[in-house]
Amino acid sequence: MKNDILKVLVTEDEIKQICKKLGKEITKDYQGKELVIVGLLKGCNPFMADLIREIDLFLKVDYLSVSSYQGTESTGDVRIRMDLSEPISGKHVLIAEDIVDTGTTITTVKKLLLHRGALSVKIVTLLDKPEGRLMECIPEYIGTVVPNEFVVGYGLDFNEDYRNLPYVGVLKPSAYEKWGKICKNKINHKLHVADPIF
Ligand code: 5GP
Ligand code: MG
Repeated sequence: MKNDILKVLVTEDEIKQICKKLGKEITKDYQGKELVIVGLLKGCNPFMADLIREIDLFLKVDYLSVSSYQGTESTGDVRIRMDLSEPISGKHVLIAEDIVDTGTTITTVKKLLLHRGALSVKIVTLLDKPEGRLMECIPEYIGTVVPNEFVVGYGLDFNEDYRNLPYVGVLKPSAYEKWGKICKNKINHKLHVADPIF
């Protein structure tokens, strides 16, 4: 798998430092508040696990799984695949994301959680790709900024692979070509469509 990586953009060491720094800031900012960290699956997985261990507060974790389809007409269509396990009303929420690109996902999820009565909703993201923005949004906590390239690793996938890389990197062209060959052999690819949020 690691042979498919062209270059590493964020190393394991850098990720460790990022989690420490963000954890400190969050610990300071949420003193005395009832905090729920909502991870957006599946990409948040390693980041969430490392980040929460750097936060010295009583906090709850929950997860939300959404899928976004970049719209043909509008700004994108975000759907819930798996909902939160507890009501969010009256809580301070911090959404944990792997990467913010167009901003569609976090903007929609933030709106949804405020609509459900969250006291505040902020965003912590490992990576920010500001060049990709279609919607105006600035995450409150950003690990690091990446260029407008497709990245994989540390939770981020390409066709569900590479999430288990311990760093963030860019794939070699040959990795995409390999997938093209697999696609040609696929007979039936069924898409699961979930309920719309609004
Ligand atoms: P947005 O709604 O901000 O455009 O996109 C957010 C989601 O798109 C992320 O949570 C991630 O799942 C996916 N995404 C955006 N950019 C990348 C990327 O460079 N690599 C991967 N693997 N996923 C990305
Ligand atoms: Mg994601």
